This record gives sequence, structure tokens and C-alpha cells, in this order.
Amino acid sequence: MSTKIIMVGSQGRMGKAILSIAKGSPAFQVVAEVDKNDSLVDSIIKTDSVIEFSHHSVTSMVAEVCMKNGKPLVIGTTGHSSVAQEVIHRCSKEIPIVFAPNYSIGVNLLFFLTRKAAEILGEDYDQEVVEMHHRHKLDAPSGTGKRLAEILAEVKKKNLEEIAKHGRFGIVGERTASEIGVHALRGGDVVGDHTVHFAAMGERVELTHRASSRDTFASGALRASQWALTQKPGLYSMQDVLGLK
Ligand code: NAD
Repeated sequence: MSTKIIMVGSQGRMGKAILSIAKGSPAFQVVAEVDKNDSLVDSIIKTDSVIEFSHHSVTSMVAEVCMKNGKPLVIGTTGHSSVAQEVIHRCSKEIPIVFAPNYSIGVNLLFFLTRKAAEILGEDYDQEVVEMHHRHKLDAPSGTGKRLAEILAEVKKKNLEEIAKHGRFGIVGERTASEIGVHALRGGDVVGDHTVHFAAMGERVELTHRASSRDTFASGALRASQWALTQKPGLYSMQDVLGLK
């Protein structure tokens, strides 16, 4: 039996990539395409799950509608305020929500390897995260870049907000051992590049992932929409979907 989905953000780059795969697969049935000026409330009853890749200001409303109707939600949007994040957390007490800054399998492996490398290399290795995306991207750093920096901070047992250095400019002084540099490059049509640098005296380790097509995120999000149907209410990551936890 096919999984019925509603795509919120259907006219966007990600929305189009997800719809193209879903429409070409017997495993999915698209029951509604929702973009600006369309109503999710009118179609929600017809679906098994909702996938949202739109704008950070939209996610809270989508989560509330899904919660009221008992429908699982897959959130791909990034750049949420802390208020929006609280709404997502609250709604996940009633419905399964998959909330991932990146739905590609390769990036989720990068999350895993970054934690391992940070644990093994330890405090002697300075850590910097560099990401590059296309010129139209609205938020910075990317949700994935932020998650990579959070993983590094978790291993240090520190709060990222206290030790992150976003870009550097002017007389910033010598680098401290505890800080984590985070740098956002923007240009052209880059789908998404992320590198975690570990630099010590005498050597450097770099872990890099490069996405060359949005299809990798799109198939991951569709897989998450099927997986969520059988889950209890809760807030899940792509690591949960892939069984990496
Ligand atoms: P985009 O700008 O191409 O598309 C966004 C779409 O959302 C547009 O069609 C816009 O009209 C629509 N939209 C805006 N307000 C809306 C509303 N109120 N209701 C319904 N639709 C509305 O952006 P994109 O490149 O598709 O990215 C969308 C989001 O997904 C961004 O936050 C981006 O960072 C994120 N993203 C996440 C992943 C991941 O794997 N998690 C991958 C790529 C992009």
C-alpha cells in the first residue's frame, strides 16, 4: 500500500525534488501540494504524513495542524527561532516528528564520524567547521554546519553558544583551544558542502561531505515519512530513521 503524503513548500527547490521522486514511485501517493496561499487545513485529513521544507516561520503552524489531526510530520526546514523549536518539541509529545538538518545518508555518516574523530583526537586538535551553499540560501550557518559544531561542543561537554566563533574579522587575537570556528560560504549553485577540520601541530585531518544533487535529501525525507508512520509520538532525527543510534 502506498504512503499518502502532503508536501508543504511544494514550489521550492526541495519540494520539487521530493515531488518528482514521490510521483515516480508506486510507494507514494501525493494527496496535496501546499505552498504560499494554499491551505494545509483543507487537505490534512486525506494524508498519512506531512513533509515540510519551506520557511522557518511556517513550521510551527504546520506542526500544530499535524498535532491536532494526529499526523506524523517530517521537518526539513532549518533556521528556526528558539520559540519555534519549543513548539516543535511540544507537538512531538502528541505525534511522531522527524526533525533533521540534513536527510542525506552521507551527512548522517559524517555526523557519526565527526563525533568519533573528536573523541579520538581530543583537545590538542583545533576544530573548525566550514560550509558552502548556493547564493539563494537564507540562513547561516546551515542547519548541518550548526549540528556538526554542536556535536563537537557535546564532545567537549560545552555549550556551543559560549564557544562558537562565527567567522573572524579584524584583530581577533590568537585562537583559544576551546573555541569552535564556524564559517559560511555562499555562491553559485552549490547544493551543500561541509568540512570539519581538526588541526594540530604537525598534522591536519579533514572530514568532507559534498552533495551534488538534492535527490539525496529528497529520498531521505521520503524514507523518514514512511518510517514515522509506525513510531510512537516523539522527536526523532535521521540517525533514528537510519538506525545509527
Ligand atoms: P526554497 O526557497 O526553494 O523553497 C521554499 C518554498 O516554501 C517556496 O516555494 C516558498 O514559496 C514556500 N513557502 C514559503 N512560505 C510558505 C507558506 N507559508 N506555506 C507554504 N509554503 C511556503 O527553499 P529550499 O531550498 O527548498 O529549502 C527549504 C528549506 O529546507 C530551507 O530551510 C533549507 O535550509 C532547508 N533544507 C533542508 C535540507 C535537509 O536535508 N534538512 C536540505 C535542503 C534544504
